[in-house]
Amino acid sequence: MTDTQSFEFQTEVKQLLHLMIHSLYSNPEIFLRELVSNASDAADKLRYEALTDDALLADDPELRIEIEADREQRTVTIRDNGIGMSRDEVIENLGTIARSGTRSFLEKLSGDEQKDSGLIGQFGVGFYSAFIVADRVTVNTRRAGSDEAVRWTSDGEGRYTLAEIDSRPRGTEIVLHLREDQDEFLEPMRLRHIVKRYSDHIALPVLMRKADDEGKPTDEWETVNTASALWTRPKSEISDEEYTEFYKTVAHDFEDPLRWAHNRVEGNQDYTSLIYLPKRAPFDLWDRESNHGLKLYVKRVFIMDDAKQLLPTWLRFVRGIVDSNDLPLNVSRELLQSSRVVDKLRAAITKRSLDLIESLAKDDAETFLEFWKTFGAVIKEGIVEDQTQQERIAGLARWHSTHGDDLTTLDEYIERMPEGQDKIYYLTAETLATAKSSPHIEGFAKKNVEVLLLTDRVDERVVGHLTEYKDKQLVSVARGEADLKSVVADPNEEAEQARLETLYKDTIERLGKSLDDDVESVRLSQRLTESPACLVVGEHAMSRHLEQLLKQAGEAGVPGSKPILEVNPSHPVLEHLKGLSADEDFDDLARMLYEQAVLAEGSQLTDPAAFVKRLNRWVFRDAAASNDASSQGAA
Ligand code: ADP
Ligand code: MG
Repeated sequence: MTDTQSFEFQTEVKQLLHLMIHSLYSNPEIFLRELVSNASDAADKLRYEALTDDALLADDPELRIEIEADREQRTVTIRDNGIGMSRDEVIENLGTIARSGTRSFLEKLSGDEQKDSGLIGQFGVGFYSAFIVADRVTVNTRRAGSDEAVRWTSDGEGRYTLAEIDSRPRGTEIVLHLREDQDEFLEPMRLRHIVKRYSDHIALPVLMRKADDEGKPTDEWETVNTASALWTRPKSEISDEEYTEFYKTVAHDFEDPLRWAHNRVEGNQDYTSLIYLPKRAPFDLWDRESNHGLKLYVKRVFIMDDAKQLLPTWLRFVRGIVDSNDLPLNVSRELLQSSRVVDKLRAAITKRSLDLIESLAKDDAETFLEFWKTFGAVIKEGIVEDQTQQERIAGLARWHSTHGDDLTTLDEYIERMPEGQDKIYYLTAETLATAKSSPHIEGFAKKNVEVLLLTDRVDERVVGHLTEYKDKQLVSVARGEADLKSVVADPNEEAEQARLETLYKDTIERLGKSLDDDVESVRLSQRLTESPACLVVGEHAMSRHLEQLLKQAGEAGVPGSKPILEVNPSHPVLEHLKGLSADEDFDDLARMLYEQAVLAEGSQLTDPAAFVKRLNRWVFRDAAASNDASSQGAA
């Protein structure tokens, strides 16, 4: 019975504990929210298990949470009669952090406590927040259906102990031995206040001892919260603050949500949903496999966290709950995957989420822009993955463009299109700087034809799927012939073009031979006005940028198709090339023309050192020549 064993915390726990205690001391009261929320989860889990085994609940069916303070002992106790924990579960839950992504989260921490304290909120503080106010924590617990009871204790310094104890009532009791300066939490009024503030929406009753006339606790208990699931109450009776606190528990977020939608649907489908848009990205936003999805309830009974089936992956930042009356109580993850009810539910919630995002865009453009900068690249995945919502998402999206520094919508782009233009032009590139100074857009800029500059990683896939928007084709300015003529026709220009074609016919042919290994062909460009050359691909070929991305990602078997070199007929280099008789010089300059086009699109040269040598030979040619001349003269 008194056999006590000592264990060391997992390294990650130690790191997290340290960080938590040091970054959250300014807001210590949240420990209560976390522990009450865990108690409520424990009740949810028990109710769920009791669906298939009612004996688990039968011995003590009134689920509740109790909180009390003891002035003499200087302790605060939070007690529940929920699922409890077995010895193994205690080790797993209170000795490690099992959550996926923990390591990568911790790697992101800078060591600067101020900065890191912001991140800890995104990670979710949980049970260990007890150590913000306590220098010793004791957990007594017995799992439903088992006789074994366990005691866990720790001072949060790196180790914890486990001991078997005499059996106790089902559930978990957490005793916090308060730190010296945390006496305020011995005040029942203070505790009530915190419960009201953070945990009023908890569906279970939270009980505290009634006080007598002198304010001393009595043996009678009373409920101090509203004790009905928030989403079941009429919207008009729920304050913004209650919605906000509910969000924080559901999303494990420190910050207030940006916006929410609470809907009750009856008829064809029967469900309640309460969904939220966060302000800030969760630490694992870019992990498509991360835990996400909504909390699922069936007829008020908690079924599971992170029900992925209720939301498409491209809405993985949306948080909230769904309470369905159509699903069976014994629904499992497997069943969710093949349920028509769930498919309909997901479609409805996807629409609702888009409504919510659109309403934000309409009501508050500035906030929406911030939101878009945070989540836009994720939402755009929907253009690729969700045919039915493609046009809606594309309409919501904000893009960089040559029009100005502000992001634009496709509709705004279309409104600005000059007469004659019937396509939407874009360029994909690694960075905005590369895109803005790209040779490919010169001709378009000169003719005032706007080009969208797409620099998010997902954009290549986006334009692969979004070939049209409102009957306007999306066309890359780095693919095929630039059909600028069709946009802004100019007969003088056409005549000039024909003249140049004839003039440089031989030079172009010679260039083609010289660069045969690297390019598919060489031609005169209509899209260049300043740069001497650029690389483009054929009408149906994979874009150069996508090829680059795939190679970076280590994708095997990327078809290395050869690009087309376009040369600017109004640039002096052509005239110069035409005049070069020495093959050696011609080949050298041709190669440089190709290499600088590679660099301008943001790609890598296969032999950069050779390029630098060539460059220097040409740049310092005159200097070298005059040096030669003067040394000859001296001789
Ligand atoms: P989270 O609640 O996000 O899972 P916590 O750190 O708050 O993370 O809790 C860790 C785990 O400890 C919980 O997932 C749960 O399994 C267990 N746990 C914590 N408190 C209780 C409790 N009162 N009853 C049963 N299990 C609990
Ligand atoms: Mg928790």
